[in-house]
Amino acid sequence: MRADELLKRHSAVISTSRRAPISGWGIECGPGWHEIIDDALTEISKIGRYQVVQIKEKSGRLRIYMTRYDDTIHEIVERAERRSLLTCEVCGRPGQLRQCGAAMVRCDEHVSR
Ligand SMILES: [Zn+2]
Repeated sequence: MRADELLKRHSAVISTSRRAPISGWGIECGPGWHEIIDDALTEISKIGRYQVVQIKEKSGRLRIYMTRYDDTIHEIVERAERRSLLTCEVCGRPGQLRQCGAAMVRCDEHVSR
């Protein structure tokens, strides 16, 4: 699923504040993590009250930032982060955290790009 489709599908939980980075930059990571994001946003949608302000790659892993947090939200964003550490950010196949200048999760095929 493309990033714009992902944002459209979950628009109910995406912050529309112009100050939210997601308003200006969209999803700031590779397409390999879109399925992880889709699953996390689906869970967040079921809770309702919370909105996403930023989705990005940071220190090689997926980070989802919210307007606020509770234990359930923490669990969802941390689960997504753990999944991203095993998933190639480029293609979504199994990968691992590597140091290629910066930290990044890549499969064997995408390790050098
Ligand atoms: Zn890959």
